[in-house]
Amino acid sequence: MAVRQRQHEQDPMVRRTNFDAVESNLTDEQAKLEAARCLNCKNPRCVQGCPVNINIPGFIHALKEGDLEKSGEIIRESSLLPSVCGRVCPQERQCESKCVLGIKSEPIAIGALERYVGDATALKVGEIKESGKKVAIVGSGCAGITAAADLRKEGHEVVVFEALHKLGGVLRYGIPPFRLPRTFLDKEIDNLKAMGVKFHTNVVVGKSITVKQLKDDGFNAIVIGSGAGLPKMMGIPGENLNGVFSANEFLTRVNLMQANLEETATPIRVGEKAAIIGGGNVAMDAARVAVRVGFKEVYIVYRRTEAELPARLEEIRHAKEEGVIFKFLHAPTEIYNKEGYVNGMKFEVMELGEADESGRRKPVPTGKFVDLDVDTVVVALGTGPNPTIQGSMLKDNMDLTTDKKGYIVINAETGETSIDGVYAGGDVAPTGPSTAINAMGAGKRAAKAINEYLAQL
Ligand code: FAD
Ligand code: SF4
Repeated sequence: MAVRQRQHEQDPMVRRTNFDAVESNLTDEQAKLEAARCLNCKNPRCVQGCPVNINIPGFIHALKEGDLEKSGEIIRESSLLPSVCGRVCPQERQCESKCVLGIKSEPIAIGALERYVGDATALKVGEIKESGKKVAIVGSGCAGITAAADLRKEGHEVVVFEALHKLGGVLRYGIPPFRLPRTFLDKEIDNLKAMGVKFHTNVVVGKSITVKQLKDDGFNAIVIGSGAGLPKMMGIPGENLNGVFSANEFLTRVNLMQANLEETATPIRVGEKAAIIGGGNVAMDAARVAVRVGFKEVYIVYRRTEAELPARLEEIRHAKEEGVIFKFLHAPTEIYNKEGYVNGMKFEVMELGEADESGRRKPVPTGKFVDLDVDTVVVALGTGPNPTIQGSMLKDNMDLTTDKKGYIVINAETGETSIDGVYAGGDVAPTGPSTAINAMGAGKRAAKAINEYLAQL
């Protein structure tokens, strides 16, 4: 059995000083060799492992036959953003975990092949016949732009309203460019513009314009894909000190506002030592960004052990290689104050107890405390939905149903909310912060349901 092909990675000591892509693409030769490993199974389990059921053997077979265009078309039947998903999907827990080759050897590098094909091809759309119907999309993240593409293909006028000055949602302001170079995101957004999707940036729906006004302006349907960008903090003393950031703010300031550059108008204060609190992908991104902007010591502090870390294995490996120091079984209890600035942190040492409802063993306090010498703290403990849109709809007497955390309740199959003609999906729905591909799947489902709804009007 031929060995799995690997993408070339920048040397860790070099890449920790730059924001360039950590991994290069497979070469043409490698892509051929990797595609040739696929057994083209009659009952392809990998397809069931993909949340949007991409025809994986189909696109790999077309690649084997040398038909890149067809390969790209097969992927784009299910996923708008193969260059993105091939880079950021947790394939080891999804499609690749189901590949039969993984039983005795290594699974096919599905993600690497997907990004290879995605980078080399582009979305193709035939002639669009105008339907005369209008759809507004709130938010230009994965859910919003996927819905926009599928709605525009049906000939509807599609207008995307985005609160920030740049498009792409978390793919732009959250995931750092060394994991997702922006050229691929720009390419997909340019494709949408070429299809006729209109984008309005710097528009906060719920403030600059309301959902009710959009309805009154003649939009036949509205999709809310506003994500879950409201940070959760720790609720411990010292959290309001200078030098404490939510991961969202820290990443946005660097990724979107280039706060790391000297000539920027909104610089970030780079200290010596940073503690990143949390163990998910967001924590890994924040830690790796902290290394790159110049912190000399960067800690990931997590209250369980390495086995329970929710981040992708690859991200953990990359963070370690780049010099991030992991402190397990530590729970934050206080941030020390020196003249209004962070001056170290106090942690309680934990041990693992019984499994909780998530199946992971619960961290249990031991009563022992330790200090950590840091001048910056980045909190990456999850996010919730921003209440702006939901609040403004309630003010306008639109009876939008939300759950107790503020997520918009939807029909999971169609994205329908409690308001006729208003749909939602992605991280703003009760599944909460999830993955890029899950948000895309939600955008696709909402677009399908709207296309059916608009056909009846
Ligand atoms: P978002 O991408 O959050 O987009 C929502 C958009 O709506 C934003 O652009 C926002 O500005 C806009 N908006 C919000 N409110 C308004 C308003 N009132 N008016 C107008 N616009 C508004 N997933 C993976 O699969 N792999 C990863 O490796 C991964 N890493 C991640 C790293 C980080 C740092 C973060 C934060 C998330 C990561 N995720 C990852 C999760 C994934 O990116 C998200 O689940 C996905 O992007 C959610 O898409 P969305 O469209 O629902 O929301
Ligand atoms: Fe795998 Fe993600 Fe591609 Fe699906 S979209 S095949 S899960 S990499």
